[in-house]
Amino acid sequence: MNPTPTVSPWLWASVFAQTLAAGLNPLQVARQQRDARLAALLRVALDSPLYRERLGRARSGGPDALRALEPVDKPELMQRFDDWATDRAVTRVSVERFLEGRRLADAFLGRYLVWTSSGTSGTPGIFVQDERCLAVYDALDALRLRGPASHALPLPAWSAGHRFAFVAATGGPFAGSVAIERLQRLHRTQAVWGWPSPSLQALSVLTPLSELARQLQAYQPSVLITYPSCAAALAQRQLDGALRLRLTEVWLGGEQVSDGQRALLRRAFACPLRNNYGASEFFSIACECEHGRLHLNEDWVVLEPVDRQLRPVAPGEAAHAVLLTHLANHVQPLLRYRLDDAVRFSGERCPCGCAFAVIEVQGRSGHTLEMRDAHDRPVTLLPLALETAIEEGAQVTQFQLLCTAPDALELRFEPGVADPAAAYRRVRAALHAFLTQHGLAAVRITHGRQPPLHERASGKLCRVRLAAPEPR
Ligand SMILES: [Zn+2]
Repeated sequence: MNPTPTVSPWLWASVFAQTLAAGLNPLQVARQQRDARLAALLRVALDSPLYRERLGRARSGGPDALRALEPVDKPELMQRFDDWATDRAVTRVSVERFLEGRRLADAFLGRYLVWTSSGTSGTPGIFVQDERCLAVYDALDALRLRGPASHALPLPAWSAGHRFAFVAATGGPFAGSVAIERLQRLHRTQAVWGWPSPSLQALSVLTPLSELARQLQAYQPSVLITYPSCAAALAQRQLDGALRLRLTEVWLGGEQVSDGQRALLRRAFACPLRNNYGASEFFSIACECEHGRLHLNEDWVVLEPVDRQLRPVAPGEAAHAVLLTHLANHVQPLLRYRLDDAVRFSGERCPCGCAFAVIEVQGRSGHTLEMRDAHDRPVTLLPLALETAIEEGAQVTQFQLLCTAPDALELRFEPGVADPAAAYRRVRAALHAFLTQHGLAAVRITHGRQPPLHERASGKLCRVRLAAPEPR
């Protein structure tokens, strides 16, 4: 068996201690760490031909070195994949060959973890994580996700004795499923040595909700990890008496959480909610505190809010996108990488006392659809399940699915789609297969010729939504 990448105990302990110290003093310690890491990253980036060109053009040192760099985006990095990594053995051919033949969470080139993103912006991404990244993600989960940044006592993120259920897109080498598989494999090794380890189970969010509920009921997790829309749909089943879970925590991510979802989850499960904002590019960009606010992990990531023309926007204003700089990844550097999330820096201090910047992320959620089957019974469809079924089944990402009636769906395409008729045929087939699994074979699917609808508040495109007024 090809092993999964490990982190040396020395590095793991050092990253853990640094992250703990930064959380205790964000204004001084975290800033010093951030500046030192940025300087180191800019030196390492010279080993990447793509960044060497950019750094040569920028010709600016000191604190402005980052801001002088021309931003990058996923299409450019994927197009120039072989010029991107600092380890010159990381090439498109080597990584694609690896992804074809290997199992999830195997070590690429003996030391890296690889995952892909299906890519709502149209281009799938391939992301390579080195040992330091893995240590950082572990430390952020343990120290920030499960408690405020100022928490004096670190809580082990994946404690022995817990039963974790991870419900997400599990059909490919995506960030979440690769990270979970790595943990499962590390825990199996621990078990061989007789060390106590937690139980972890991954379940597909594409499974019809009634079947998913049955699987969860049988497994009886203590911690549920999933998207807010999925957790809310399960919470409703719990309140209806169709599900009886005894959860001690719910971890949320991948979508924005609404106040309504929070209230529903608290009522149904009566346990702490842990929410974070992350991406395939950086697993844990911000973690939520006990006041329900997201604090940016400023010691490990730089996030610059920008407008449509990539000009900086002031605190308090909503950004069109953010430029992300990953301070841990030295193998595949991400410097001023454009991430299409509408992030607002509140500019205010949080009552929890943590001095890490407070951010809000908008436009990262679709609508949960309530359809009716041929016998007029209600069937709940989750937005991320529909998105995944279409992206994976039809290899089309630039679509919008509108629910026009409880038994009717309309597909629209972005202007960039070259052959909408062909895209429609592929998406229709993938969607029909998904709907059939959910007992919804009779739902009407049509091709809408209008452009997709954009959200009024954020201007973002929501892939799955109701055609008429937004739900509360
Ligand atoms: Zn706070």
